[in-house]
Amino acid sequence: MSNNILVINCGSSSLKFALINPQTQEALLTGLAEKLGHADAYITAKYDGVKEVTQLDEGNHAGAMHAIIATLKARDLFDQVAAVGHRVVHGGENFKASTLIDEHVIAEVEACAKLAPLHNPANLLGIRTAIECFPTLKQVVVFDTAFHQTMPEHAYLYAVPMALYREHGVRRYGFHGTSHRYVSAEAAKVLGLPLENSAIVVAHLGNGASAAAILNGKSVDTTMGLTPLEGLVMGTRSGDIDPGAHAYIGAQLGLDLDGVTDLLNKQSGLLGLSELSNDCREIEDAAAAGHKGALLALNVFCYRLAKQIAALTVSLSRLDAVVFTGGIGENSSIIRAKVIAQLGFLGLTLDAAANNAAIRGKAGKISGATGPSALVVNTNEELMIALDTAALTV
Ligand code: ADP
Repeated sequence: MSNNILVINCGSSSLKFALINPQTQEALLTGLAEKLGHADAYITAKYDGVKEVTQLDEGNHAGAMHAIIATLKARDLFDQVAAVGHRVVHGGENFKASTLIDEHVIAEVEACAKLAPLHNPANLLGIRTAIECFPTLKQVVVFDTAFHQTMPEHAYLYAVPMALYREHGVRRYGFHGTSHRYVSAEAAKVLGLPLENSAIVVAHLGNGASAAAILNGKSVDTTMGLTPLEGLVMGTRSGDIDPGAHAYIGAQLGLDLDGVTDLLNKQSGLLGLSELSNDCREIEDAAAAGHKGALLALNVFCYRLAKQIAALTVSLSRLDAVVFTGGIGENSSIIRAKVIAQLGFLGLTLDAAANNAAIRGKAGKISGATGPSALVVNTNEELMIALDTAALTV
């Protein structure tokens, strides 16, 4: 009997999947269905180093799941699926760890949808479809918020009337928890530090970006809040902004609250500053060619990141390591070098050759001989979901 875990990460128009062997930690099959909800939806599957792209007959989430099943069957992998693990973005305060799915859990995830209206409904769609397609298998949910449930109340409370917290759940939750958990544990291994006696800041820098302070393996603070809009500058999100700006921007542009929130989520960040792109690679190329907006976007991104990393060290009271991960963190030697230079006052130094070499899947230590360590760790949220699912089911 095989113990392979099917990992499902369902977005509103995409479905990412992987079949992972939790013992060897190897991904046997990976893939992505895109443009779900559109006539030209398609699915890409990678098996044994070979990529295969197929148009979906049924261009929705159920169609994508049926295509995954067909792909598994075609490779004699269908009977090897032991359980299914799902990524869910928001678990509110009720979920402090991954959990087996039952009707009660589904109802709780539904209730959390008001806190994550863009994400939880799509995650739920993935869960329901998978239950229909794999009715006999156990299924597990792994929450982005769960790892940050160890934050102390002085870190998670906003200074607003307490009734908003008590009655409406207005507090800081934090996201990317699965990545922060995996990456901090990997960093401790690389550094030979016992995780239970470590003080690490992880910067997860992808299209969305957040940093977290992780003390002795537990999250004690993070930059994202009630929603993923708070904190760092991101691809299209503003990160921190004076809440008073909402009313001002709305009045100037004739936008309602949803319109302003949309602007801060989708037209801001690297895209808004550069007036060019939300893609870090394009920004770096343009900055190198002298594009002023791109240079400005990089400067603001790095300054704000360094400032937030320094702020997070307050909750650690010492700093063993700063760890970079996510598409930008794992590839942009330019951003890492700038941020480490700005954090020189904390004793961080850079090994320029190691930093330049840590790209495209190559990870490791990028700091000099003295001071706190800086390192690059490749995140692997799918593996973390597979390991949690195996631990609860197999
Ligand atoms: P997501 O949050 O969607 O998972 P990723 O973690 O894949 O995103 O990160 C996407 C970001 O990583 C993009 O801004 C992309 O430009 C950036 N990135 C990928 N490769 C490089 C590179 N070689 N140099 C700089 N940035 C890169």
